[in-house]
Amino acid sequence: MNDCLFCGIAAGDIPSTKVYEDETVLAFRDLNPQAPVHILVIPKTHITSVNALTEENAASATACLLAIPKIAAQEGFAAGGYRVVSNCGADAGQTVPHLHFHILAGKRLEDSMA
Ligand code: AMP
Ligand code: ZN
Repeated sequence: MNDCLFCGIAAGDIPSTKVYEDETVLAFRDLNPQAPVHILVIPKTHITSVNALTEENAASATACLLAIPKIAAQEGFAAGGYRVVSNCGADAGQTVPHLHFHILAGKRLEDSMA
């Protein structure tokens, strides 16, 4: 039994506020937003992080990236600009070990990324 939180969200077993979905990708609002717009984009299949990407599973990560400009257009924050972040491992503070891209938007974001 897979007890991954984001696999549970992708399967619909755990509720989320969906923003975008296609065959490969789900995007939903972060429960603890760090900007006026804070969306998480995940592949529906389990990949632990960027560090687990391979030639075999890279297509679903690419699909996540391709979804981002669609979400930006849909949600209306493309013109103002936005930041895309993927925390990878302990030193980056990754808390959910299922690949996800944070989209942060809706204000002038901090200059510092670290
Ligand atoms: P990270 O720290 O990069 O692994 O990001 C995990 C993100 O998932 C954090 O920003 C959390 O606020 C968010 N999060 C945790 N649980 C949920 C949930 N059930 N629904 C939506 N976002 C969540
Ligand atoms: Zn997972």
